[in-house]
Amino acid sequence: MRLGAIADDFTGATDLAGLLARGGARVSLRVGLPDASVLGFQGADVEVVALKIRTLPKDQAQSQSKAALKWLQSQKADRFFWKYCSTFDSTDVGNIGPVSEVLMQTLGAAQTIYCPAYPENGRFVFMGHLFVGQMLLSNSSMKDHPLTPMRDANLLRLLTPQVTGAVGLIDRQIVALGVTAVQTRLAELAQKNVTHVVIDAICTDDLATIATACKDMLLITGGSALAMPWPALNGVWPNQAGLFQPLGRGALILAGSCSEMTRAQVADFAQKGPSLQLDPHDLSQNGVQSAKEWLGAQAFDAPKLIYSSAAPEQVAKAQSQFGAQAAGALVEAALSELAIFARTMGYHRFLVAGGETSGAVITALGISQLDIGPEIAPGVPWTYGAGGLALALKSGNFGEIDFFSKAFGKLPSHVT
Ligand code: ADP
Repeated sequence: MRLGAIADDFTGATDLAGLLARGGARVSLRVGLPDASVLGFQGADVEVVALKIRTLPKDQAQSQSKAALKWLQSQKADRFFWKYCSTFDSTDVGNIGPVSEVLMQTLGAAQTIYCPAYPENGRFVFMGHLFVGQMLLSNSSMKDHPLTPMRDANLLRLLTPQVTGAVGLIDRQIVALGVTAVQTRLAELAQKNVTHVVIDAICTDDLATIATACKDMLLITGGSALAMPWPALNGVWPNQAGLFQPLGRGALILAGSCSEMTRAQVADFAQKGPSLQLDPHDLSQNGVQSAKEWLGAQAFDAPKLIYSSAAPEQVAKAQSQFGAQAAGALVEAALSELAIFARTMGYHRFLVAGGETSGAVITALGISQLDIGPEIAPGVPWTYGAGGLALALKSGNFGEIDFFSKAFGKLPSHVT
């Protein structure tokens, strides 16, 4: 079996790759759509293609994911995984449902499943409702997300306007009965032309049941945790090789996530190390020159933080001035420019907080392939790029409060 995965953002892709690597798979991660001439699966069991399509117009998200699927098929992948955020980040228009449908159509898949549960990171699906910790998604800080505010927790209600096919549920009572019960229910739903099936999962064992029941499905969709059982289910041997490459120096944290956990991590780090806040209004007037000067004045090896992360009131203020998309684009462009500047200064170790933010920064740095290194926290591995680069891409709400100060200590100590 060869698994081809498509992720809707870059932090999601490293999260997925990290969990598959933890399960023993050899994972190759492509940043952006690979050229038709690029060869996949060179010694790897899984290819993950990281796209940045979460908030793109639906048509573009569909065409990019279809192109990624075609590349994976051309490289002889025979099972496929569509990975989105464990908080189901999407709008009424998409892009979770529309991408599923285009992938299903291209593959000739009659049915697929949806399971964003990620128990290790506090995401649970019960009776079709998504919980963040003990809270419904719609009560969590995701209700204030700058680009995809999640104001409903019912996955069936969220998915229905995004797809043309019928949506159904396999609830925990069935999942608890085991693999055969799930398979039987899937077949019953298929008989009723239910093509999109949300499945409950409240613990890692549930995910193993679901992954086993759906092992032969051409396409499954979900958060990264649903892919974790794949290596064991497919007899992949644990990867003992342990990738080593000499890393370059210089440590920089760039945070554009406004999620609650990132803001707590920013506040924690700001008490321990040098930090600089960017303000969208100031950026629109004066650009990043003063931030470059600030960075140039910092000690090179010690981690330092540049962030735009702000509380919902401040985000709302910037959004009312520029519009939500434009405010995000302004900040993403500034952080990208700073990443390029740091790179030219010789920086090699980057930690980026925020899904969209990571996508912008990695694209700006022109990185096309990453290998997977040690995990910093569940869902956030270090990754290695060409030329001694180390990158950690953190989804907004992931990691503990001291994540920023701890992360660099997880890198191998060898320095070129
Ligand atoms: P997360 O992983 O928490 O969802 P993202 O990076 O995906 O984080 O999304 C955060 C979005 O908010 C980005 O588009 C970012 O540019 C934007 N943003 C960051 N800081 C601000 C700010 N101060 N005002 C408005 N938008 C902001």
